[in-house]
Amino acid sequence: MTYQALTPETLADYLRGVPALQTLLGDLDALDIVEVGDGNLNLVYFVSSRSQPGRSLVIKQALPYLRLVGEGWPLTRHRADREANALLQFGALCPQHVPAVFHADSAQSLIAMQHLRDHIILRKGLMEGLTYPNLAEHLSTYLAQTLFHGSDLYLSAAAKKQAVAAATNTELCKITEDLIFTDPFEDNPTNAYNPALPRAAIARVHQPEVRLAAAQMKWAFMNRAETLLHGDLHTGSVMVNPTDTYVIDPEFAYYGPIGFDVGLLLANLLTAYLSQDWHRVQAGQDPAPVQAWLLGQVAAVWDGFADKFTALWAAHDAASATSFMGSARDEASQRLFREAFMQQVFHDALGFAGCELVRRTLGLAKVAEIAGIPDEAARALIEVRTLRLAEALLLGRDDFQFISEVIDLAQECRTLTL
Ligand code: ADP
Ligand code: MG
Repeated sequence: MTYQALTPETLADYLRGVPALQTLLGDLDALDIVEVGDGNLNLVYFVSSRSQPGRSLVIKQALPYLRLVGEGWPLTRHRADREANALLQFGALCPQHVPAVFHADSAQSLIAMQHLRDHIILRKGLMEGLTYPNLAEHLSTYLAQTLFHGSDLYLSAAAKKQAVAAATNTELCKITEDLIFTDPFEDNPTNAYNPALPRAAIARVHQPEVRLAAAQMKWAFMNRAETLLHGDLHTGSVMVNPTDTYVIDPEFAYYGPIGFDVGLLLANLLTAYLSQDWHRVQAGQDPAPVQAWLLGQVAAVWDGFADKFTALWAAHDAASATSFMGSARDEASQRLFREAFMQQVFHDALGFAGCELVRRTLGLAKVAEIAGIPDEAARALIEVRTLRLAEALLLGRDDFQFISEVIDLAQECRTLTL
């Protein structure tokens, strides 16, 4: 069948043609179908049985253009294949944190997946000041499992090279290259500035030293095919409830530097942290407890990821005839390599976090916790703090040794005034 963007009516017909989905949903004559896509790129439908509550699934279909901008920004539907493959690969590694895929149809650029019924988008929960006891534990597991198993530390050299070739995602990478690494660092028409944000604050991240750092991170993103990344791991790509954590929407998946997913996630926890000074005060609450929790999550995500990644690596080497370093069981060299490797990932993550913080403040795609602050002056204050944190991370990324230093820096930036 040729590609057709589905409507609720044509979707019902489509479901009739897929026995596996019929089995999941039961009576196809009594379905509720609602389009819920709040995203930028795709159609997302919730499909649920009226007669058998609890039977439901999500259908996600790629559109041949960028929804955020409209039909004037064409985009191939190739990304649905990238997303389906990534969901399957990541789901095999940590099924407890990735929605199950029931059906994938390349011709229709469509995926049927597990409906996360009583979960909300993490960014929304954080804006409401909610905390999640298992968040860092779950996200660090997800990061370690996915980022380790896609790399040369685990795969054979041949398998990894094939995986790199199969993961090409040119158009979505181009969006990242432009919107994260390039446009926000110059006065580009895709940017949008808060009128109350002092020009001097913008000029600081357009200085040559900062632009150099952003260009170096862009180069790393484009050239260091280390592992299969999620590629868009912000808090809008995480769904949570008090007990579970799921990572959705890996349509930007491709082979890139390990620190990229980690850095984006840390940056979005930091915007959640800085923006509490408006959101909690607005709700008549003390921001201190949730801010302390958020900084704790930043530390626990990094430390948990580093520990789990290293443990997976050591266990894999111990169980194999040969390791990345060769067959000599030279523990001292292995330990040195692992330590230097994790330090490099840390520095990369901080550089990528810096780029993400700038783009979420000045670029085309902002974050609701900052962009949604209606008072321009109050928003500018949070933006100035975010930009200063970004600048310090970008310029100083190689000087940080421990995540506690990043926490101290974030706390300092939080006290800056306009
Ligand atoms: P896009 O790629 O267009 O941004 P997303 O994959 O982020 O689309 O999905 C858009 C929205 O649909 C999400 O923010 C979430 O609210 C909802 N959604 C997506 N997948 C699921 C799912 N498996 N279960 C429940 N809700 C989902
Ligand atoms: Mg998306």
